[in-house]
Amino acid sequence: MIRVNPHYSKLQASYLFSEIARKVSEFQAGNPDKDIIKLGIGDVTHGLPPACIEAMHKAVDEMAVDATFRGYGPEQGYDFLREAIALNDFASRGVTIQPDEIFISDGAKCDSGNIQEILAQDARIAVPDPVYPVYVDTNVMAGRTGKWKDGRYQGLVYLESTANNHYVPALPSEAVDAIYLCFPNNPTGATVTHDELKAWVEYAREHKSLILFDAAYEAFIRDESLPHSIYEVDGADEVAIEFRSFSKTAGFTGTRCAYTIVPKACRAYDAAGTVQDLHFLWNRRHTTKFNGVSYPVQRAAEAVFSPQGQEQIKALNDGYLHNAAHIRQQISTLGYDFVGGQNSPYIWINTGEDSWAFFDRLLNEAAVVTTPGAGFGACGEGYIRISAFNDFAKVEEAMQRIAAVLGR
Ligand SMILES: *Cc1c(COP(=O)(O)O)cnc(C)c1O
Repeated sequence: MIRVNPHYSKLQASYLFSEIARKVSEFQAGNPDKDIIKLGIGDVTHGLPPACIEAMHKAVDEMAVDATFRGYGPEQGYDFLREAIALNDFASRGVTIQPDEIFISDGAKCDSGNIQEILAQDARIAVPDPVYPVYVDTNVMAGRTGKWKDGRYQGLVYLESTANNHYVPALPSEAVDAIYLCFPNNPTGATVTHDELKAWVEYAREHKSLILFDAAYEAFIRDESLPHSIYEVDGADEVAIEFRSFSKTAGFTGTRCAYTIVPKACRAYDAAGTVQDLHFLWNRRHTTKFNGVSYPVQRAAEAVFSPQGQEQIKALNDGYLHNAAHIRQQISTLGYDFVGGQNSPYIWINTGEDSWAFFDRLLNEAAVVTTPGAGFGACGEGYIRISAFNDFAKVEEAMQRIAAVLGR
């Protein structure tokens, strides 16, 4: 008798964004003439940078001719892209990452979800709260947690990110094996300083743990004192894997290209405590289960690093940051406590109410979609996340409507 993976039954039924979509379509059906403004799901809204489009077109033409056609490429990605990343994203910031320590993939969601496959079944996992749900659910699926109880999975260590710690979690009081961190953060928009990150690297070195660092939003950092990569901290290459993506950096959410850094120095251990090679393991996993990102998409990603590409993505992201600054200013005027929206496209607002009730009020009375914080974890209760991914005119209009509803 074939049985299903029993761990899937522990997963919570309503996935956050499907529940939001259901509420939005219900509202639209009841109010067909209302123009709903979406500041909910974290998806970019502007067209791809022209430099990327040009490179993609050229690559598509190459694919039409036998002489320049490309079939299967290297699973880990083409050298031209891995070299461009090593140079522009790391060497330029004084960080040495070799091109062959970079694994090109079709998404940081897949990579941050799949990485747990190379870790032991009984690894003790720490996740922030609130959190990007992928880190949690993939460990539930793998059977690393107990049941869902009182809003949390048993067996996971939750790292609370609240106003008290400026949304940067304190080091755990118990020893953990793997720690997921994401800065600039989704959903809070909070950033981490070099010293705070250094404390985490020291913790990981002391406890022989591994940090899984998600830097999907690094392109929004404008404060030059903030680290873009965990490898800016000395010694992090031995204890950290980093996830990056072109999704938010260059508007590639529908184009699909990302990369994961597994330094050759990165360590894990077997049951006897002997050092094991994580780079080798991830390479084994990646080449077994993945056949590479398409050639035109890798050429488009390479074009992000051209001088024109760099200028274009800066303008693109400056636009989203301009939206974020407007949201911050409006929310501040309304008298709410919030974090984010600087060096980040997300603003995390303490509503002082039930977060789904607050979400419903903004949807029903302002026709604006946000994201209820409770969907990201117990510590998100009472908060909503507003995303700056939209046109400035829409953001302005949304904030006017929100002010009219909340004005006090
Ligand atoms: C959007 C996002 C990603 C990027 O995912 P892709 O699969 O590369 O599109 C990764 N991590 C977080 C926290 C995100 O919000």
